[in-house]
Amino acid sequence: MSRRAIRRRRRRRGGLLIAVVGTVVEGLALRRRGYGLAGEVVVRCRDGHLFTTLWVPGVSFKALRFGPSRFQRCPVGGHWSLVTPVTLAELSPEEQRLARERRDLRIP
Ligand SMILES: [Zn+2]
Repeated sequence: MSRRAIRRRRRRRGGLLIAVVGTVVEGLALRRRGYGLAGEVVVRCRDGHLFTTLWVPGVSFKALRFGPSRFQRCPVGGHWSLVTPVTLAELSPEEQRLARERRDLRIP
């Protein structure tokens, strides 16, 4: 095997490692906010709208990912925004009820 091929292979492995670590970190961030490792998560958009979305670390077909935030469509305001998972304990019962009632597409 040529030197270049070896280098290329190493680089690919490094990229995979970064993806795996990123997914684990994302999962742990959800855990800290009171959710399971994946599933329905209450998020808040930049305009303060709360809604429920299906969040699977490392997987997203309807959003662009930026670390713990995602750029996706907010069903409340009908606009695109950066959304961040919200800690359930920080929401009032009323806010939790509202967030549960508003949900977007059931795909990650
Ligand atoms: Zn919004």
